[in-house]
Amino acid sequence: MPNHPITDAIRIQTERTNEMEHATPMFLTSSFCFDNAEDMRAAFADETDDNIYSRFSNPNVKELTDKMCVLEGAEAGYATASGMSAVFASFMALLKQGDHLLSCNSIFGSTHTIITKYLDKYGIEYSYIAADEPETWEAAINPNTKMIYLETPTNPGLDIIDLEFAGKLARKHNLLLNVDNCFATPIGQLPIKYGADIVVHSATKWIDGQGRVLGGVIVGKKELIKEIYLFCRSTGPALSPFNAWVLSKSLETLDVRMERHSGNALYIAQKLEGNEQINWLKYPFLPSHPQYDIARKQMTNGGGVLCFELKGGLEAGKKFLDSLKMLSMTANLGDTRSIASHPASTTHAKLTEMERLSVNITNGLIRISVGLEHKDDILADIMQALAAI
Ligand SMILES: *Cc1c(COP(=O)(O)O)cnc(C)c1O
Repeated sequence: MPNHPITDAIRIQTERTNEMEHATPMFLTSSFCFDNAEDMRAAFADETDDNIYSRFSNPNVKELTDKMCVLEGAEAGYATASGMSAVFASFMALLKQGDHLLSCNSIFGSTHTIITKYLDKYGIEYSYIAADEPETWEAAINPNTKMIYLETPTNPGLDIIDLEFAGKLARKHNLLLNVDNCFATPIGQLPIKYGADIVVHSATKWIDGQGRVLGGVIVGKKELIKEIYLFCRSTGPALSPFNAWVLSKSLETLDVRMERHSGNALYIAQKLEGNEQINWLKYPFLPSHPQYDIARKQMTNGGGVLCFELKGGLEAGKKFLDSLKMLSMTANLGDTRSIASHPASTTHAKLTEMERLSVNITNGLIRISVGLEHKDDILADIMQALAAI
């Protein structure tokens, strides 16, 4: 009987140098030697899966992707230098000139830039669909539509998209479903179970979980991953063996970390809901969340991020950040240390207010990535900053 994926994420070791070491060593090498010319020929002819060169494959990188495949329930995987190179490779390898991409409108900022600025330049058409209006999606499908791209929960608004609905729509119209599973992690939700063909990750966030390294992972159907692998092998967004070693080690604790992150986040969301400085607060596992039922159906926990809107708008948002004593003011999320961000004055400041509102980023929106500090210390810092506005 196969192990539970959580056991495999701890115990899979792709390669070791000898019998003595318990932990996987680092394979900090750019290339690999062969014993004879015939073995080398066979490797180059793809007749074996021997390592050749670390742009193609490396034991540390393979360990990470093997673990991610069992966690996500995927056939194959490839790891890249960052989440963005994973997203970009999934588009470039699977779309061509004349194809049409249907993307959810609330997506990570750099993904939005790839779609609007670069895909367009290469003749790949796109339309945005509203995350919270799935009834409008089918009408947006064109004869040349090839892929649906989604993020759920969305960043920073935490909308939940029904993956079962998306999976059925993709099958009905013979489209590829590509899901960015960064926010939920495979501990929180399994998009492939609902029909996703490709799952992309920024491993920089919860997978590393300690704010140390950048990385990206793509998993999915074997034939699709093969195309992505061939694109990456030639264009070079390879993950460094060192980063892969860190990320593979991090997967050993992903399940326990997500349990605590989501437990802390739920506790804080419950305590803050109804606070007089706040218009509304969103957390996927609070019954007040507009898509609570969908979240409960497809997620095993509510994740580590919550968001709320301050009544005082832009100025209150800046005052809130300035009043925090412990939470970090930084652009990352998914760290042991709790982080607060105010998208309207930082990550999304270049958008007009209208553009921000179209993706539900209001002036008073605050996003909290809840860390592993004691929950009452995190709560106390947020409460005192709210009181200081
Ligand atoms: C951070 C992030 C990315 C990009 O990942 P990098 O590792 O920073 O390149 C993509 N999608 C989501 C949802 C993210 O939060």
